[in-house]
Amino acid sequence: MSTLPIRIYGDAILRKKAKPVTQIDGELQQLIAQMTETMRTADSPPGVGLAAPQVGRLVRVVIAREDADEDTPVHCLINPRVVEQEGEQTDSESCLSLPTLCGVVGRYLRVLVEGIGPDEKELSLELEVLLARVLQHEIDHLNGVLFIDRAQPDSLNWLIPDEDEEDGYRLKPTALEQVGQVFERLRQKRQ
Ligand code: ZN
Repeated sequence: MSTLPIRIYGDAILRKKAKPVTQIDGELQQLIAQMTETMRTADSPPGVGLAAPQVGRLVRVVIAREDADEDTPVHCLINPRVVEQEGEQTDSESCLSLPTLCGVVGRYLRVLVEGIGPDEKELSLELEVLLARVLQHEIDHLNGVLFIDRAQPDSLNWLIPDEDEEDGYRLKPTALEQVGQVFERLRQKRQ
C-alpha cells in the first residue's frame, strides 16, 4: 500500500473545511488504507492520528490510535463529531503537518464521538485522555483548525533530537512567526 505526501503548515488546504462523506466506496476505502500507511510510516515524532485534509483530501475522514506501537489498533471515523464532552486535560501536542513542533493545548478529558466506520456501520466511541485528545485534534483538522491555534502562548517548542535526553529530544522555544517561516522554507524545498 502506498503512502501519500503529508501537507505542511502554510498549505492552504489545511485551513479549509472538509465536506461530509456521502458514499463509502472503493475510492474512500483506498484513501483510508493509504492514510493508515502514511501515519504508520511517519516519524517526526511517530503519528497517532491523521485527518484527510493533511493528505490533500477535503473529506471528513480521520484515523487515530492510542500510541505508535505497531500492534495498536487504528480507529477510523467517517463524518466524526463530538456529541458529549466532560472534564479538562492539558498536555503537549504535535502534528504531522507541523513536523518537530510541539505546544501545550487544553482539551476535554472525555468525549463521546459518533460517526461511521469503514464498514458503513454507525460508530459511537467513548474516549478518554490520549485518544480523546487525538480525536479532538483530528476533528479540528476537518474544520481547518490546527493545534497552534489553541496552544498556550509561549508553549511552542521545536523537538530537537538529543541522545542525552530521556525521551530522545530536547525542547527549543519558538514563536508562531518563526514557525511560519521555517515551514514555508520546508514547503518550498519539497515542491
Ligand atoms: Zn494534526
